[in-house]
Amino acid sequence: MSKLAKKVALVTGGSRGIGAAIAKRLAADGASVAITYAKDASAASAVVRAIELGGGKAIAIQADAANVEAVKGAVEKAVSTFGRLDVLVNNAGTAIPKPFEEATQEEMDRVIDINVRGVFATTQAALKHMKEGGRIIMVGSAVGERAVAPGLVPYAATKGAVKMFTQALSREVGSRGITVNNVQPGPIDTDLNPASGDWAIPQKAATALDRYGRVEEIAAMVAFVAGAESSYITGANLTVDGGMNA
Ligand code: NDP
Repeated sequence: MSKLAKKVALVTGGSRGIGAAIAKRLAADGASVAITYAKDASAASAVVRAIELGGGKAIAIQADAANVEAVKGAVEKAVSTFGRLDVLVNNAGTAIPKPFEEATQEEMDRVIDINVRGVFATTQAALKHMKEGGRIIMVGSAVGERAVAPGLVPYAATKGAVKMFTQALSREVGSRGITVNNVQPGPIDTDLNPASGDWAIPQKAATALDRYGRVEEIAAMVAFVAGAESSYITGANLTVDGGMNA
């Protein structure tokens, strides 16, 4: 029997990059998967189609993570479509790399709204439906623990907030048999952080493995945390960074 058979997962920002890989992997493990996206409906539909072609079930929901009513609606839509919610993956996130003193208030607000406010709102809405065995999983960042390069000050601060959110929430919902964990990627080749170009050189050099990671390498950790075998792991920050923070 598939590891996540009969389980329902919601992956925010699941139309591209790490979130798309997570959605496909959870579906391959047997879960029915709802993904959210902000702008690109065709990329979201392509993920749904890929999952359906593999014999799985998926839906895509347009919901900007910065819009509290939209994310609440996405949780309700996932539950009304698939009947329950077992796994929430708070993956939607963004960075606006530049020197801190040049960042506008609007840019900083946007990073906070998506990376922190959206995570709070989505998690609160999801917890209403979660039962024993539920899994709340954040996609934080290795820079939420250790800032390896300049240019990511507000982003690193939001991912540090995600780290403590994870630890604090694990204390509140543990008695209900719900775990809360934070998967912290290092440099992963996506549209947000392409493995080529000037910006990639110091990040690659900072890893022990001397390479960028692949989206599937993050999805593998998320799948483990989503499954039954991770039942005694909670409040943990699980770094998957090629040794960047070693
Ligand atoms: P991408 O920019 O490649 O993909 C982002 C995904 O999230 C897309 O599906 C996008 O959909 C969606 N999205 C973007 N903004 C919003 C929003 N406001 N509301 C809902 N969905 C949104 O990013 P990555 O895959 O690289 O990053 C995913 C997560 O991993 C983020 O939290 C990021 O901080 C984290 N991370 C990434 C690292 C990396 O090196 N790539 C390293 C460490 C952490 P649409 O196209 O419709 O906007």
